[in-house]
Amino acid sequence: MTISTVNPATGETVRTFEALNEREIEAKLQRAVAAFAINRARSFADRATRMRAAADVLDARKNELGKMITTEMGKPLKAAVAEVQKCALVCRYYADNAEKQLADEHVQTGAADSFIRYQPLGPVLAVMPWNFPFWQVFRFAAPALMAGNVGLLKHASNVPQSALAIEEIFVEAGFDAGEFQTLLISASQVGPLLDDERIKAATLTGSEPAGASVASAAAKQIKKSVLELGGSDPFVVMPSADLEEAVKIAVKARIVNNGQSCIAAKRFIVHESIYESFEQKFTAAMEALKVGDPMDEATDIGPLAMPQIVKDIDEQVRKSVDAGARLVIGGKRLGGNHYAPTILADIPQSAPAYREEIFGPVASLFRAKDADDAIRLANATTFGLGASVWTTDRAEAQRFIDGIESGQVFVNAMVASDPRIPFGGVKHSGFGRELGVLGIREFVNIKTVWIASMPDEVSMPVGD
Ligand code: NAP
Repeated sequence: MTISTVNPATGETVRTFEALNEREIEAKLQRAVAAFAINRARSFADRATRMRAAADVLDARKNELGKMITTEMGKPLKAAVAEVQKCALVCRYYADNAEKQLADEHVQTGAADSFIRYQPLGPVLAVMPWNFPFWQVFRFAAPALMAGNVGLLKHASNVPQSALAIEEIFVEAGFDAGEFQTLLISASQVGPLLDDERIKAATLTGSEPAGASVASAAAKQIKKSVLELGGSDPFVVMPSADLEEAVKIAVKARIVNNGQSCIAAKRFIVHESIYESFEQKFTAAMEALKVGDPMDEATDIGPLAMPQIVKDIDEQVRKSVDAGARLVIGGKRLGGNHYAPTILADIPQSAPAYREEIFGPVASLFRAKDADDAIRLANATTFGLGASVWTTDRAEAQRFIDGIESGQVFVNAMVASDPRIPFGGVKHSGFGRELGVLGIREFVNIKTVWIASMPDEVSMPVGD
């Protein structure tokens, strides 16, 4: 894949970039090592000043950056601008909280003093996807840099301008060149980088095959990795739920980011007593969506990011129908990279829609006999990222919270990431967590300190 911006709304190649050669990569690695020596020595207050400045740059440039995001990957402009604003939020969150999240933690033992100290690891390689080309990067970069690490970004090959703009934002905010660098490289150049001992850890957000490849390359060198992979999130609606609200949010949760979100609701599991009503209301709402130009304020669903995605989801829909699924609406290409909002129902186990991730505006409907049946269906996938459950029965909500195999359960709300709470999955959706206090503790050395005795009162200086 060449590294280029191809506008998915028009098919026009806007800009093309050359991948870095070995000499250029080496120079960036040396710069990262030098920058780590500087960043690890900085106080939290110093790091926070720069991180807040990055937030200010994002806010000031949100409209221009939003247009660039939409041009590169096709999400509606208002969503692209909101994504940039959310990045400012995560920068401010870690600017405000990193110091207390990484403060020494004293533990009562038989020692004169014993405590946990959190220290940065060094240069961390982030391999990132195109679907939230800013948010995915900032939710790694803000905690990693606040912890004292430095970042190297290998972004998806279709969002090079976003990748370069992110590096530029950090420089504009006063970070040293080298604290956060973009490497315009292909996926095949990632393996050799992970072999380099100067890279201390890796994080990947993307598909299962990419995650398996990066995690195994990191493991061969005994390096820590975090994986945020795909999902086929269930959206469960029970009889006690507010049906109108559930339908409204179900549509939003399915079409977020043109349907190309890891935590988009993909499988709608509805209690049989309200199923017909749900299907009817949901179908009407999906049919009313406006598909079109992502720069147009009125557009709900823009083009999918690449022609290959249109081809892939069309094939998943066709195979599901061939296997016996009922096509309620859609199931067709609309020209260019546009795909009609689609609903599949009565889906047999053999159909791709039963368990695979469908990365576009395609909803799969299932009927559940009761809560146990809904939990069984929710778990009938290799993924375990998020789950949304709609019920006003407290005991029933508890059963879903305990029974669904996922990294997060949202009750009477759609799944969404938030800087304050951890985000991540189980099963084939990955391991490790981003965001919240757990996110900042992924790329640190959790150092145990045991001081058996000390002549005077123990008073250790605060570390990195
Ligand atoms: P992808 O094809 O896996 O690409 C993700 C990144 O990995 C890109 O930078 C890609 O580079 C790189 N890559 C691909 N194969 C690689 C390999 N063998 N070794 C090293 N790097 C490799 O995924 P995508 O199509 O961009 O994103 C869609 C997937 O991401 C979906 O499954 C979605 O659910 C998942 N996702 C998960 C989360 C989460 O937080 N859990 C969030 C967003 C998306 P190239 O572009 O150069 O190939």
